Amino acid sequence: MHAAVLRSARSPLVIEDLAQEEPRYGEVAVRMGAAGVCASDAHVMHGTAVIPMPCVLGHEGAGTVEAVGPGVTSVKVGDRCILSFVSNCGHCRQCITGNPQLCDTNAITGARQFDGTTRLKDANGAEVFQMSKIGVFAERIIAPAQACFPIPDEVPMDVAALMGCSVPTGYGTVVNAPGVRPGMTVAVFGVGGVGLNAVQAARIMNASRIIAVDISESKLEFATRFGATDRVDASAGDPVEQIRDLTGGGVEFAFDTFGGIETTQQAVDCLGKNGLAVVAGLAPLGDRAPIDLVDLVRKQKRIMGAYYGSASPHETFRTVVDLYLRGELLGDELVQRRYPLDQINEGFEALERGENGRGVITF
Ligand SMILES: [Zn+2]
Ligand SMILES: [Zn+2]
Repeated sequence: MHAAVLRSARSPLVIEDLAQEEPRYGEVAVRMGAAGVCASDAHVMHGTAVIPMPCVLGHEGAGTVEAVGPGVTSVKVGDRCILSFVSNCGHCRQCITGNPQLCDTNAITGARQFDGTTRLKDANGAEVFQMSKIGVFAERIIAPAQACFPIPDEVPMDVAALMGCSVPTGYGTVVNAPGVRPGMTVAVFGVGGVGLNAVQAARIMNASRIIAVDISESKLEFATRFGATDRVDASAGDPVEQIRDLTGGGVEFAFDTFGGIETTQQAVDCLGKNGLAVVAGLAPLGDRAPIDLVDLVRKQKRIMGAYYGSASPHETFRTVVDLYLRGELLGDELVQRRYPLDQINEGFEALERGENGRGVITF
């Protein structure tokens, strides 16, 4: 079984032939169909996010169930599935209070399966971890059955893959933000994979102004296809001033889909009174953003984080699949580049260059 393995930070991914154990109790084997190239993988490669190594990266993917372990009833062999990068245990405090995307057991076990062990071995017999229990840059994966969300044949694999991370994260972050309403004014910082989906979620929610903010003119142009009404080039002057000018004092909602000190600060600064800034992009580990505290109080601003679209991933998958099938949510347009697994490093180079839309590994 071939997979893209990261052996240490700041080194390229290496395609290795790994030995794979069959699914244990509650687990499934999935033949991968497609996997997206996401900035969260790049963080691990740069060492700005830390997971155990060697590790098969990839957390945005879709495939077909090939085998099920004992006790699995939620999916069957042949089911085409979106894969969740959070598998929920169903019984921790977060799961039982309606926040399965924040599952404690999943966080504790991390790149291991729920029983704390791994399913992959390298050529030397050493264990290999799977990012987010799935590690989708692999021809075939073992994963908890909870990761799988069955989808109809009408959703192509490459689009389904993106429905594992960038689509639900961008979409859910907007529609689940408290107080969103038709006519709202919105700024989206960063119009990569997650940002484009935040833009189209704002369009679906009938926002009156959707201001796309990025440092790439080409990405901003691309974002208009998804519903951006205005473009702010952050490399050509202060984006906060530009947003205030466009909206007569600031937006009601700002979404930082990039995740960084500067963008989060700008997202808070560009809010009008009573505005809400939502941070959905993951910043490098340890980053802290200085916030203007007087402004925060006097303008009664709010700041919140949003993980995986702030809702149950399976519920968001259901919604985005429906909207996609009805033509409300663009999916095919997100896929701009396709690579075979052995060209995965080129996929990450295109991501670093800031190319439009998403790159997808197809199997
Ligand atoms: Zn991702
Ligand atoms: Zn849980």
